[in-house]
Amino acid sequence: MFKVSCFTVPLSIFPASKDVVLLNTATKALLPISKENWSKIQSSKFSSLDPLFLSCLRELHMVVDDSEDELEFVKRTIEQIQEHQGYLGLTLTTTYACNCRCAYCYESDMHTDTHMMDATTVNLIQRWATSFCESFHVRFLDVCYHGGEPLLNLPFILYMSQEFAKLSSRLGITLKQSIVTNGTLLTTPIVNMLVSCGIKTVMISVDGPPQVHDKRRPYWNGKSTFKDVMDNISNIKDLFDIILSVNLDGQNASSAFELLHILERKGLKKCIKISFPQVKPGMDHNAHCSQYELNPQTAVKWIGQLYRTAVISGFSTDDVLGLGFCTRRRLLSYVIDPRGNLFDCITGVGRDGFKVGTLNDAPEDVITKRRLRLRPLKPNAQSCLTCAYWPLCLGGCSEQAFVKHGSINACDCRKDFFDNWFPVAAKIKLLQEILSKAGKAHT
Ligand code: SF4
Ligand code: SF4
Ligand code: SF4
Repeated sequence: MFKVSCFTVPLSIFPASKDVVLLNTATKALLPISKENWSKIQSSKFSSLDPLFLSCLRELHMVVDDSEDELEFVKRTIEQIQEHQGYLGLTLTTTYACNCRCAYCYESDMHTDTHMMDATTVNLIQRWATSFCESFHVRFLDVCYHGGEPLLNLPFILYMSQEFAKLSSRLGITLKQSIVTNGTLLTTPIVNMLVSCGIKTVMISVDGPPQVHDKRRPYWNGKSTFKDVMDNISNIKDLFDIILSVNLDGQNASSAFELLHILERKGLKKCIKISFPQVKPGMDHNAHCSQYELNPQTAVKWIGQLYRTAVISGFSTDDVLGLGFCTRRRLLSYVIDPRGNLFDCITGVGRDGFKVGTLNDAPEDVITKRRLRLRPLKPNAQSCLTCAYWPLCLGGCSEQAFVKHGSINACDCRKDFFDNWFPVAAKIKLLQEILSKAGKAHT
């Protein structure tokens, strides 16, 4: 016999329609079905369903075998991703220094630390990464240059990327390199060097039209960055995959629509993938973040409207149902700070609570330590045990848990947000699928 999966969430996203949309949070599958069929499923009348339809429900995990231990299924699936053998992810904080002073920067208390990754760090990273790749048979090396502003330490990026290229060629490893930058320094000579380094993806933040972006993301001396960043994006649009983040809070949410028009007018619509992450109060107790934090309902309203507008206008977006596992959840992903310390969370870089070792520690020892720090893959809290969002949430973000509850092991519960967000996200996702089939949208 069968049962409805405890991770199947019925979403009434079209109130006037005879359909309901099922979301399974373990497989991220979406399935519109009739309310009549949903009522049969709920009352376990599986034999009255069309056999082909039933097998489709089982394939998508909407319905599972009666005896299935679903928490165990989720645990096994996540373990496979977490311990993805043959993978190593390295985020290199080349420097904490930055030429900008964004209002919500989570590293604002670190910009005065001007220590740069240098030749010594290159050697340490090279030695540690080689040892890791050899010991754990790495086949895919995923490198991201981060900051502060990573391009303030261009010599390191140029040198390190050559070392990674040698390592990947010697061990037959696929190398993927990306950079997270504020976009102000992407001038033609620098861009040419990044291309020659083999960097393929550039992630940039633009927070709205000029008057709004410049208030939130000025240069260190207060001058405007919008024009420089947009000119640079236009210049690099054919050279890199560009991921553009519009960091949202109560200060800029309503004006972000104007940015979409600007990007469209500049002919950038087809060259970027856009996302709308939320700015949250962080460990540095930044007053801006507290002042402008969106409550769950308002966040859903603005983020939903922005994604919908972006999709209808023909922009590609990130996955509105969630982006998968962050660095802290992946056993084989590390953040390295300018002094060669290892961390398991990008927002926690430079903070003791997130430090897991140094480049002088053997990779085996660091992995052992990290294993102990990974969040449990089965829920502890009673509220999580019965929560259909568990596979997508797993207790939430550790950094936010620390900010809210003083412990990285506490839950950062976003149930209020999820209750409101998933019906909206499902609608956007279905819209993307329809437009994509009609050849009018990208996901
Ligand atoms: S560009 Fe990034 S590192 Fe620099 S101030 Fe802005 S958010 Fe912080
Ligand atoms: S933290 Fe909250 S949203 Fe996440 S699984 Fe637990 S109860 Fe659900
Ligand atoms: S714990 Fe939170 S801040 Fe840290 S990497 Fe994960 S999602 Fe990002």
